[in-house]
Amino acid sequence: MNAPALAPVRPVLRERGQREVFCGLTGIVWLHRKIQDAFFLVVGSRTCAHLLQSAAGVMIFAEPRFATAIIEEKDLAGLADVHEELDGVVARLLARRPDIRLLFLVGSCPSEVIKLDLDKAASRLDQRLRAGGVRVLAYSGSGIETTFTEGEDACLAALVPELPEAGSGRSPRLLVAGSLPDIVEDQFARLFADLGIAADFLPPRRAGALPAIGPGTLVLLAQPFLGGTAAALEGRGAKLLEAPFPFGARGTEAWLGVAARAFGVDPQRFAEVVAAPRARAERALARHRPLLEGRRISFLPDSQLEIPLARFLAEECGMVPVEVGTPYLHQRFHGPDLARLPSGVRLAEGQDVERQLDRVRADRPDLTVCGLGLANPLEAEGLATKWSIELVFSPVHGFDQAGDLAELFARPLVRRARLAALAPEPAP
Ligand code: SF4
Repeated sequence: MNAPALAPVRPVLRERGQREVFCGLTGIVWLHRKIQDAFFLVVGSRTCAHLLQSAAGVMIFAEPRFATAIIEEKDLAGLADVHEELDGVVARLLARRPDIRLLFLVGSCPSEVIKLDLDKAASRLDQRLRAGGVRVLAYSGSGIETTFTEGEDACLAALVPELPEAGSGRSPRLLVAGSLPDIVEDQFARLFADLGIAADFLPPRRAGALPAIGPGTLVLLAQPFLGGTAAALEGRGAKLLEAPFPFGARGTEAWLGVAARAFGVDPQRFAEVVAAPRARAERALARHRPLLEGRRISFLPDSQLEIPLARFLAEECGMVPVEVGTPYLHQRFHGPDLARLPSGVRLAEGQDVERQLDRVRADRPDLTVCGLGLANPLEAEGLATKWSIELVFSPVHGFDQAGDLAELFARPLVRRARLAALAPEPAP
């Protein structure tokens, strides 16, 4: 259980140009599976509906827990009608889906929606529907205000004021913030229970199971993109623990170790609890390491997972990060992982997509992690790519997912090697 070292001061290339990244609506794709009695009603345009439909296309046969209320172009004078339309959509939705206990109105960026005060609309509907057991909250997933994973941050931050107040006499509890697939959450819950730590998770699986919070709450982030949520939790008196993120064997051990120290767990007990899952993770990683070792990798800014993943790949898989770009570099959240990155890695915050692509072309890394829209052009130029969205949608946290996480990076390298083997010999 070594304490994370202080991050050295590193130069950071700050770019403020054109961005190529999904908007915050994308978070609905994983959030709607997590809170099982919630519904996400996007107030937006046909573009928003298409984005969700294609990003969550796999849900086509299920009864989805999201939809888009399409707001057509209206002038300001027509806004009263928009509120009426919205109320009508909500009434029809709740009549059809009586299982909904938590309704999120999600803002988007078309100008007609920007004119609407969704917070006010949510509070009006909340007052009306609360007695019937339905809470209504609002947050923005607009592409103007949020990138990709920031939608989850905005959603969880909107939930924080709803968390019940923990009584002052309550013993300290851990709150793990950030949505994790249920299987991963269950694994962590078992590990915390074995360590004797009482842990809650945000978001909960059901709207009625919101964890209580107060000055005795210690918060451990499971995702690095929750700046707004962390600030809101601190505003409720909780204390934030700073730790590397739980990727791979070492990252997960360090993350659990920060919580264990904060709760005064006996180091011997900690070592006993993590020994077996850590050994399993190391065995799983060893299978992929020969393929990954020494291979150069660049990350274009997308999900804010880039720095912790680069730490995992460098420290645990022997890869060589060339450039690690992230939409935002929060020293506070990324510091423990940054401290473990090799020196010489080029760090970039923000995006100027053309310049970044030029650097990728000049660096020619073995693998580039980027958004869907940039992957095909880079592949066409002979560069192997990994879609960053897969890293957000797949179970990748914790000891038992370490091997799968390494495999996600090994697979495109194997595919490219196979394609190269099939390519005809150049003419003499
Ligand atoms: S919120 Fe904005 S960026 Fe996102 S899909 Fe809708 S129109 Fe596009």
